[in-house]
Amino acid sequence: MVRDASGAPYRVVGSQTDITSRKEAEERLRHEGFHDKVTGLANRALFMDRLTNVIDRIKRQPGYILAVIYVDLDRFRAVNERLGHEPADRLLEAVAARLRSFARVGDTVARLGDDEFAILLDGIPNDRAAVVFADRMRELIASPCDVGPEEITVTASFGVTLNSPDAATAEALLNEAESAMQRAKQAGKNCVELFSRENYSRLVSKLRIETELRHAAERGELELFYQPIYNVAAGHLTRLEALIRWNHPQRGMVSPLEFIPIAEETGLILSLGDWVVNAACAQAHSWRNAGRSGVGIAVNVSPRQFQQDNMTAQFGAAFTKMATHGFALELEITEGAAMHDVDQSVKVLRSLREMGLRISIDDFGVGYSSLSCLRLFPLNTLKIDRGFVQGVPRAKDNTAITHAIVGIAHSLGLTVVAEGVETEEQLTYLRALGCEEAQGFLLGRPLRAKDVTPLLAQQSAIP
Ligand code: C2E
Ligand code: MG
Ligand code: MG
Repeated sequence: MVRDASGAPYRVVGSQTDITSRKEAEERLRHEGFHDKVTGLANRALFMDRLTNVIDRIKRQPGYILAVIYVDLDRFRAVNERLGHEPADRLLEAVAARLRSFARVGDTVARLGDDEFAILLDGIPNDRAAVVFADRMRELIASPCDVGPEEITVTASFGVTLNSPDAATAEALLNEAESAMQRAKQAGKNCVELFSRENYSRLVSKLRIETELRHAAERGELELFYQPIYNVAAGHLTRLEALIRWNHPQRGMVSPLEFIPIAEETGLILSLGDWVVNAACAQAHSWRNAGRSGVGIAVNVSPRQFQQDNMTAQFGAAFTKMATHGFALELEITEGAAMHDVDQSVKVLRSLREMGLRISIDDFGVGYSSLSCLRLFPLNTLKIDRGFVQGVPRAKDNTAITHAIVGIAHSLGLTVVAEGVETEEQLTYLRALGCEEAQGFLLGRPLRAKDVTPLLAQQSAIP
């Protein structure tokens, strides 16, 4: 508006600017902020945004199902190194195009990172449909791809999860899908796994135990209990079995059945095993100082420990040390540990025996020993698994098996220990069967060291 001296408008002036290119640049920036440059797919930010929106929307639609599929290419790094960046990018584009070819209106396909993709299926009938869907994608991805100079085949692992009240956020859903994808990797890659809440919580608690167990020894949370083993004919104490306990600050006493398998799987068992042997030696020392008479102390050796190279040297040294305190170190191994590599086991067991250690096969009857191998191993004792002992003398099968094990052991010149004896009736039966030794709640529970001390008075008798 242009005005004259009196302030009255007499002209209008205007101008026009073409801002198309600015608008385009803005649009491009916005697109780039939410899309992946290489494949043109949605990026992680956009994916999470859409997922959050869908989750919000379906809160008001009970029964509505959405699925998140997590895709990770198998061995992509090797492909990348071999092909070089350019062709590898073209491969990613091809994968993106294949994934996108499945998308329906409302679905979102995204590239989350290097070789990771995610698909949001907005509205599907059930979990089966989601898995079938993912499996078809898996097949298509696995067909050869022409990215020049050569044809190449990649496969991918898929993890699928569905919305649930437990996974109320986009983050939680994506984590579930990723964890299912990890299981697909473990299952051998190029396959689809459906997220299972049960597996997930098992995994989480396993990880927690592993982390906490790493520090248990240095925090003084581990303790050895000792369970007495008696000669049933003469009625005196012959040995103690050392059983580890974990005194967890929040959870109280944790059973070894819960953490030994995890320690075994993660390799923590090696340091745990060292701790057990050292603790048993130290205990023998202090019993000696208190003027107590020595007996055998049996420690459990897990498969991983048994296959360790320095096993013989380590246990040989511990045996010698314990012998100076008047106690005899003994080992309990399971059938599985010994059968893993029979030739090697025979060698290891021979040298342990030569050094003076006694060897028992633990939980005998539940594993898969071959009797001909049993003959090769230089053993002293078979411990009949508690599961069989529980049934005698009433349950026919268990009684027959117990009978047979005692027979086999004796014909191989081995001593028999019955584990888990809980009743007088069982003890009487086992004694009549010629079973030499027994261990169980009837005779004594696993005890703290201080409660074992009185038992080491002389050759203490069955209570
Ligand atoms: P195992 O070597 O067969 O030990 C015997 C288990 O049976 C012990 O369980 C003991 O408390 C239990 N038991 C003994 N008598 C009875 C009974 O009359 N009735 C019942 N119901 N149970 C009885 P625990 O202490 O929970 O140990 C479980 C397993 O954990 C052991 O089985 C052993 O395989 C493993 N373990 C324990 N300590 C160690 C260790 O220091 N190192 C390794 N590698 N494994 C260990
Ligand atoms: Mg044992
Ligand atoms: Mg046992």
